[in-house]
Amino acid sequence: MIKDTLGRPLRNLRLSVTDRCNLRCEYCMPEDDYVWLPREDVLHFEETSALVDVFLSLGVDKIRLTGGEPLLRRDAAALVQMIAAKPGLQDLALTTNGVLLADQIDALKAAGLGRITVSLDTLHRDRFKALTRFDQLDAVHAGIAAAHRVFGRLKIDTVVIRGVNDDELVALIEYGRAVNGEVRFIEYMDVGGASRWSAERVVSRREMLDRLARRFGAIEPIDEPGSSAPADRYALADGTTFGIIASTTDPFCRTCDRSRLTADGMWYLCLYATRGLDLRAPLRAGLPAEELQAMIRGGWGARTDRGAEDRLALGDRRAFVPVQDLLRKDPHLEMHTRGG
Ligand code: SAM
Repeated sequence: MIKDTLGRPLRNLRLSVTDRCNLRCEYCMPEDDYVWLPREDVLHFEETSALVDVFLSLGVDKIRLTGGEPLLRRDAAALVQMIAAKPGLQDLALTTNGVLLADQIDALKAAGLGRITVSLDTLHRDRFKALTRFDQLDAVHAGIAAAHRVFGRLKIDTVVIRGVNDDELVALIEYGRAVNGEVRFIEYMDVGGASRWSAERVVSRREMLDRLARRFGAIEPIDEPGSSAPADRYALADGTTFGIIASTTDPFCRTCDRSRLTADGMWYLCLYATRGLDLRAPLRAGLPAEELQAMIRGGWGARTDRGAEDRLALGDRRAFVPVQDLLRKDPHLEMHTRGG
């Protein structure tokens, strides 16, 4: 297992399979149009699979497919099938907005997908439309019902934004119970794409717990020693569990073992990194696996990133990439390109 300068192992790979999305969530990709990755740069499944082999050989054992919206990638289940069977892989998961999930769930399960997370920020149809610009809440509900049927359980990721959906914490937990979905509330992050972020719109973990305790009574933290998971988990008195990802007010950089590969083969060591390592060019140039391994080992060995902590230390902060023009010039700065 290889470790970075802070002793963090390389274990968790987030594989963005497309930069395209079929929603326009205001906190992620609020614009109508973007500069997309050139089509010819997007890795073929065989190329992605070859890079995954290299990562697995270096100790990665968890992979999450993301995007953009991963289910927009044609025949995503075929990629799942190529990856799921690989030796050394412990966990293969997928994060989706759920819109296309109902149609693909059986193929994904048959292909060997292990776990599903669906992003859902509101249970109100009008709000969903205002937040995502598409009237697709029914499709997401169908996707979640399908995930419940086929996988038995799922996770539901909710970005909490003051004045947008912070009055739905209780309702979302109750909804989660009904579909066997563990809700994870994510503090609103000032990542690339969140060009309308402001500190006032962040609802902190503390505030979320206070609000939930007012409705549900005592909330017990679940102790998970050694966990590198971003969510702190909690249990209500009736046993219902949920998580909070406090990336903005209490970042988990010190245990972060995640890196991100974009659909065009750029490797990023932090969600806030402004530079990545191009793995597509050497792969397409025919570099042998050992040399790709050496590149990745060297990159991870030199990793110092603590992006979310650096952002927190700034005190008075604004959106990470405030100027939409800048985002337009470099799609790699976007959350939807590097994968949330
Ligand atoms: N399209 C898929 C989806 O909706 O889950 C996968 C990609 S999306 C970028 C992955 C996750 O990033 C989603 O759960 C989304 O809510 C989260 N995300 C995007 N922008 C965020 C922000 N500014 N703060 C916190 N989470 C964010």
